[in-house]
Amino acid sequence: MNASQHEKWMKLALVEAERAFDMEEVPVGAVVVKGNHILGKGHNQCEMLRDPTAHAEVIAITRSRAPCAPAPSSIRGLSR
Ligand SMILES: [Zn+2]
Repeated sequence: MNASQHEKWMKLALVEAERAFDMEEVPVGAVVVKGNHILGKGHNQCEMLRDPTAHAEVIAITRSRAPCAPAPSSIRGLSR
């Protein structure tokens, strides 16, 4: 990722942070990027959701459309 691409994604993270600020949340935003695509984005929502884990990065990862890698077979076997 070159510097101008990085700056573009960081500006989008700042837009997310501004959304948090406007909602009287701690002003943090995050974007999850792969290559030239946004997979997910989010801003802090701890106050609104009354959830101390509702951090920007957690929401961005949760909203990410990236498929999860399958669990290793040694772990899958535990769920039977
Ligand atoms: Zn956090």
